[in-house]
Amino acid sequence: MNQVRIAELAWPAYAERVGSGAPVLIPVGALEQHGPHMSMNPDVLLPTAIAERVAADIGGLVAPAIAYGYKSQQKSGGGNHMPGTTSLDGSTVTSIIRDVLRELARHGVRKAVLINGHYENSAFITEGVDLALRELRWDGIVDFRCIILSYWDFIDQATIDAIYQGDFPGWAVEHGGVLETSLMLHLHPDLVDMSLVHDHPPAVFPPYDVFPIKPEWTPASGCLSSAKRARAEHGELILRVCVQGISGALRTAFD
Ligand SMILES: [Zn+2]
Repeated sequence: MNQVRIAELAWPAYAERVGSGAPVLIPVGALEQHGPHMSMNPDVLLPTAIAERVAADIGGLVAPAIAYGYKSQQKSGGGNHMPGTTSLDGSTVTSIIRDVLRELARHGVRKAVLINGHYENSAFITEGVDLALRELRWDGIVDFRCIILSYWDFIDQATIDAIYQGDFPGWAVEHGGVLETSLMLHLHPDLVDMSLVHDHPPAVFPPYDVFPIKPEWTPASGCLSSAKRARAEHGELILRVCVQGISGALRTAFD
């Protein structure tokens, strides 16, 4: 891989890349349990892998991932009661995003991309971007542009059909399921143990949230659907589709 990781560059090389207009991609993840069969960092590793490939494609750079995220919600991440899941308050996520973007802008970066790997972060990333743009306007910087995206939104119907064979449970219950596990099997097989996958039907939730949550609503595995049908080949396909889709979208957006 050509040099895309900001943290591994010396500052003059970084300043030169920024000066030539390189967009900076920032993976935003979480430390969150993903079932008994997988490590707790897929939400960091997956957007990072995608960001590095996209950056190599479009001449961009990748900032170190934000390794913590907003609180796991029961109907999308199993819930924040699970051991290991280590979360930030929403205002902290917002502040981190705002501060990093402001620093990048100070370096001369004018195109930034937030690649989200943890559903619950979405609104706080948006808020951080909004606050950063507002502060930059006060400083007279009006040409800083940001793209916010979640990588799974680039997985098209043909890919879903090829992987799930008509049995797609929906992204809402994919936490720790076939999507993330397949990507991890392809990218980081050492962090997955398929012999520990629980076989259970997708979680079913009512159309409302209850607080305090009812832990018994979350399947005992912590996953919201089973990863039993995860395959490294599916992961390879998903990765390719995401990288192509995101690279194309960024070329268009920053044109
Ligand atoms: Zn995840």
